Amino acid sequence: MNGSYSQAERDWVQLVKEQPCSVCGQAGPSDAHHIKQGLHYTVVALCKSCHQGSKMGWHGEKAAWRIAKMEEIDALNETIKSIHRGL
Ligand SMILES: [Zn+2]
Ligand SMILES: [Zn+2]
Repeated sequence: MNGSYSQAERDWVQLVKEQPCSVCGQAGPSDAHHIKQGLHYTVVALCKSCHQGSKMGWHGEKAAWRIAKMEEIDALNETIKSIHRGL
């Protein structure tokens, strides 16, 4: 992650980290994966495996993502849906 955060952006990212994984549904706390660095409302809640896993993860071979037939934008939709449900 780079760039600066406003307090509102910090609050949003914290909320994202409390959500279940947007790909496999594993209960949080989750990692916050940025779709675009510096755009803090494009963060996706991901478990360690779906995030950094060498086989499963977005930053790896993306196997979990292929199985779920998901791209980052689908995961972002799930993250926002989950937060909205909780509000
Ligand atoms: Zn996951
Ligand atoms: Zn990431």
